[in-house]
Amino acid sequence: MAATVLQGKPVAEAIKAEVAREVEALKAAGRRPSLVAVQVGTDEGTEAYVRVQRKVAEEVGSEYRLDQLPEQTTQEQLSQHLLALNDDDTVTGLILQMPLPVHLDARAAQDLVAQKKDVDGISAASLGLLVQNRPRLAPCTAMSAMALIHASGRPIRGAEAVIVGRSDIVGKPVALMLMAEHATPTICHTRTADLGFHTRRADILVVAAGRPRLVTGDMIKPGALVVDVGINYVDGKMVGDVDFDAAVQVAGIITPVPGGVGPCTVASLMQNLVEAAKWQANQR
Ligand code: NDP
Repeated sequence: MAATVLQGKPVAEAIKAEVAREVEALKAAGRRPSLVAVQVGTDEGTEAYVRVQRKVAEEVGSEYRLDQLPEQTTQEQLSQHLLALNDDDTVTGLILQMPLPVHLDARAAQDLVAQKKDVDGISAASLGLLVQNRPRLAPCTAMSAMALIHASGRPIRGAEAVIVGRSDIVGKPVALMLMAEHATPTICHTRTADLGFHTRRADILVVAAGRPRLVTGDMIKPGALVVDVGINYVDGKMVGDVDFDAAVQVAGIITPVPGGVGPCTVASLMQNLVEAAKWQANQR
């Protein structure tokens, strides 16, 4: 029997509705959240992403601004810009768009973002809190994958969870979040000796490798929940990391690409914006 296809849009809509309610309450208290995105140079993917950010920010009632810095911006100029935004009380959340031009050190820049404004959730400080199982602003893509796992209704406690990919922004945080909810995570990467051995054991399989059709139907445990985070372009078409047509015949529940994790990621960003607003309000 073909798997249930778990669409991201209704999950994203539910998150946004809750965020909009919280933004309304913040506005009533005179603290309308404001998100500033910083983009250096030009990049097609970034431009598409910031358009979606603006749309969703407006949908939930928060303010949005894009600061576009020229391609030749120096590290020092970028640092000064970020530090000024940190000090600006009218800015609630700050997101530094990737990729940066190659002459800039992305990690050094990211680490300058104030912890309480790091709505992308990927600074060392934010990830440190996640490791200690007391997250405040967590990585949005990992939050989005978790939102879909929750929406699937599948039990997490006691589940064998396998994550393909060990990046700081997706693979590692998803593993930590699943472990926090008492799953037993295994993280796979390019040096994993037998990827299929691990993926076939997974009750929950999260794939975030950036490799089209890396996970084939025979690598999935029958009935498993499969969350495909990957975004790849093959012949001009967006595809995930899972061979969807084969996987849908084996899995129990599967998220599509496009339309799965993607729509929930920006909704999760807005959740972080509200969390940042509340965190900043409590410090005063
Ligand atoms: P990275 O390139 O930072 O990490 C990819 C990870 O996958 C690495 O750990 C790598 O292993 C592993 N990997 C790559 N190839 C294989 C393989 N053949 N077998 C096993 N493991 C492999 O990517 P990100 O984590 O940033 O992103 C992952 C995917 O998610 C991308 O497709 C990206 O576009 C997508 N994405 C989607 C978002 C959304 O909103 N839907 C948001 C962010 C990302 P190693 O460490 O050994 O190199």
